Formats: sequence, structure tokens, C-alpha cells
Amino acid sequence: MREIDQARRAAHHGPMPDLPPDPYLLPPPGDWFASDAAHHLLDKPKFCPSCASSLDRGLTTEWWSGHERIFMTWCAACRWTGNVVLFDKAIIEEPEH
Ligand SMILES: [Zn+2]
Repeated sequence: MREIDQARRAAHHGPMPDLPPDPYLLPPPGDWFASDAAHHLLDKPKFCPSCASSLDRGLTTEWWSGHERIFMTWCAACRWTGNVVLFDKAIIEEPEH
């Protein structure tokens, strides 16, 4: 696949919902990373999994492992650090009762 075709695919994941206000500037629509940046803004954790404080003053960075989206998260209120993982399906084993 040509590099330009890969860039076009990355910029067009389909229709996007309305985006919330962004304190940071998103790349212009159509840029190669614009769609990923917009999805990050929509899907990143908003509250700390440990203390439930807003993560507005914390840190969230995202990477991918296969189909999983992993958000490394740091909470400024309680200093919790950990990964929040988004996935499409979960396979859970339950022991016999
Ligand atoms: Zn916290």
C-alpha cells in the first residue's frame, strides 16, 4: 500500500460524533493523525479509576497493542498511575460454583 493511501485511511475512520471542547488544538481535519487525535479526545478516561477525581490536570497518553487501545493514566489528585484498556470483546472465565 502506498504511503499516501495509508495516510488517507488513517484520516477517515467514518463519521465522527460532535467533539467535546478541546483545551488543546486538534490537527486540522484530513491531516493524517486527525482522526486518531479526535478518537483519543472522545475515548480517553475522564476520571481517575482510583479516586474518581477529574483527570483534567492529570496525564493520559495512548498506544495500541493489536486491537486494544491502552491509555497510560496519571492522576494529579492521588498520584495513581496505571493503564486503562479499551477493547471490543472480553472473554471472562468464571470458576465453577
Ligand atoms: Zn486519583
